[in-house]
Amino acid sequence: MRIPPIIRTKADLRAVVKSWKQEGETVGVVPTMGALHQGHLSLARAAEQACDRVIVTIFVNPKQFNNPEDLENYPRTEEDDARKLAHHRVDAIYCPNPEEIYPDGFCTNVSLSGLTEVLCGAHRPGHFDGVATVVTKLFTQTLADQAFFGEKDFQQLQVVKRLVQDLDLPIEVVGCPTIREEDGLAMSSRNLLLSDRARIKAPALIQALEDMAEGLRNGGTAQELGAEAEKKILTAGFTEVEYLELRACDDLSLQDTPVRESRLLVAAWLAGVRLIDNISV
Ligand code: AMP
Repeated sequence: MRIPPIIRTKADLRAVVKSWKQEGETVGVVPTMGALHQGHLSLARAAEQACDRVIVTIFVNPKQFNNPEDLENYPRTEEDDARKLAHHRVDAIYCPNPEEIYPDGFCTNVSLSGLTEVLCGAHRPGHFDGVATVVTKLFTQTLADQAFFGEKDFQQLQVVKRLVQDLDLPIEVVGCPTIREEDGLAMSSRNLLLSDRARIKAPALIQALEDMAEGLRNGGTAQELGAEAEKKILTAGFTEVEYLELRACDDLSLQDTPVRESRLLVAAWLAGVRLIDNISV
């Protein structure tokens, strides 16, 4: 078991990647914000299987937080994260400081329209600009051939795929399935912020999604089933349902029945923690 080397500057990262590329090796990148769990580790495994070299990036990206308190409270567990990655064939952990990514005078913004204006984008102004900007930088800094993202953040995955297509970035974006706790709750770094009492209530979110998906498959509409599902989520102890919507997978357009390949997506607040989840219908 060996803790992978931690790299903090883009110059050091470039030097390492250059040596790999000179040997003709392929590079996979797994962008994360740390507080690693089995969901993140499943992405690292997918990268190991597909690429000769694997870089896991850990960067709590200030630009994608629209709430300073959320940024401050976001769990940071770098030493533990590094230890977890020691069980994997990860060649480098890239942990840049904010100044390394956003030096003085930084004024470029990568912004997508359409896809970013709905769901999380409608409730977290600037969030996807922050994601798109940092992901573009991580792609150009790592020069990776493939990037691994979780379906847990389904909208983010679609945004990153679109960004790569629109900007002709020479990288393939690979989507990986959501990893769940035994009771169905999607793994998330934010689950660490839930009290024991709240944690017990949290699986109501996926249960409501699954019931609603079944109703849709049986011919129900999102409008009627959505109202019922929302009620169930609130009755279970959530304080607010930000959105609960059926959307087409490719362009995230709103659907009332799953005529196209569709996804049911939800964001809801439980004891001051914002949880998101989604499933295919
Ligand atoms: P984060 O650290 O939350 O920014 O997530 C980093 C990457 O891990 C993103 O591509 C997420 O979609 C992915 N991810 C987070 N949770 C899960 C999960 N439960 N299953 C699969 N992938 C996940």
